[in-house]
Amino acid sequence: MKRSFVSAQRLREIAAQYPTPFHFYDERGIRDNASRLHQAFAWNPGFREYFAVKANPNPVILNILKAEGCGVDCATSTELLLAEALGFRGEEIMFSSNMTPFKDFLLAHRLGAIINLDDVTDVEYIAKLPSIPKKLCLRYNPGGNFVVSNGIMDTPAEAKFGMTRPQLSQAVRALLELGVEEFGLHAFLVSNAVTNDYYPALARTLFEVAAELHGETGARFTFVNLSGGLGVPYHPSQEPVDVMKVGAGVEQAFREVMVPAGLGSAAVVTELGRFMLAPYGQLISTAIRRKETHKSYIGLDACAVDLMRPAIYKAYHHITVAGKEEHPHDHIYDVVGGLCENNDKFAIDRRLPKIEIGDLVVIHDTGAHGYSMGYNYNGRLRSAEVLLRTDGSTELIRRAETPEDYFATVELPQSVRL
Ligand SMILES: *Cc1c(COP(=O)(O)O)cnc(C)c1O
Repeated sequence: MKRSFVSAQRLREIAAQYPTPFHFYDERGIRDNASRLHQAFAWNPGFREYFAVKANPNPVILNILKAEGCGVDCATSTELLLAEALGFRGEEIMFSSNMTPFKDFLLAHRLGAIINLDDVTDVEYIAKLPSIPKKLCLRYNPGGNFVVSNGIMDTPAEAKFGMTRPQLSQAVRALLELGVEEFGLHAFLVSNAVTNDYYPALARTLFEVAAELHGETGARFTFVNLSGGLGVPYHPSQEPVDVMKVGAGVEQAFREVMVPAGLGSAAVVTELGRFMLAPYGQLISTAIRRKETHKSYIGLDACAVDLMRPAIYKAYHHITVAGKEEHPHDHIYDVVGGLCENNDKFAIDRRLPKIEIGDLVVIHDTGAHGYSMGYNYNGRLRSAEVLLRTDGSTELIRRAETPEDYFATVELPQSVRL
């Protein structure tokens, strides 16, 4: 059963201090999960998790992950600037962008980041950098369907990312000509894969291609980047991934493919976002309105600008009501926000306990791709973020936006009276 990070009484105290809605993060959970991941890949001395900054760009969260030994995966110059400001240096930064403006490559290069090329035409831009990077990564798209034991997981042929197999050979040869000395291979084929089989199957694919490219061109492959995609159980009926089994499955493929190919000293790296953060964040909101029409609605002070996933992916997010976890779930509600947009619904026909106005409603698993996907539609302001420290204290790690923030990028004929 999914629970709030603190008791209902403690949550009410916290909500009295920081007005809802806010995103609430559990430092203990983040740290324990990061250390389990490192344990699962301890067999690989070069292992590094590059946390995908887009999943949660809060500086305090990034510093916690840094203290746990993670690097960062950035895709834009703004994310690179954030990484630089937080003291991530050189190979602690992976730059996995696509359709990349040249100035972003320049910044990544200045920071000494490992640049991950999404396309064969990126080679032309690498040639124009002030110096040729010694180490680069290439992003692979095998096309077709990606199939693991339990069927088709996704359709890389429809994805805009990565290079075809012949393009990989072409890129490696061109980069060797330019003087690149070390290569990595990357692919992101399935999102939110809640299975122990995805990473081992992906790893085997990448290991085989790295071994082929090595045989074909002599290029030294010193790392393989499994990217993100490891999933979390958003629905309480789902089993979480067993990260130790995932690590062991990747290790087996490594021994069977990389070691015989003479690539046994290569590092395995990851760019997980969701897996690192989603379960350790919750959106805390207050029920502010009730409405009975053709259906029963509960209106929250949070809305889709705080958590876009249900609106755009019809994603399931579990909901509990603080202090009513054990109450009979004998009401069926649509739990909604107040945007003038009919997809602003956190849950449709959800069985929940009777909700009163003023109840604290907890939306679970919002730590990744939650706050970071936020937007300002309808003049809605972005929420605060609050961290539950390991000692049980709380810290405001991002203030809520104010109307001044909203108006900061325009000139108004008359100053706004706030
Ligand atoms: C989004 C993304 C990730 C992280 O994905 P998750 O599903 O959050 O693990 C990693 N790498 C790249 C290149 C991405 O675009």
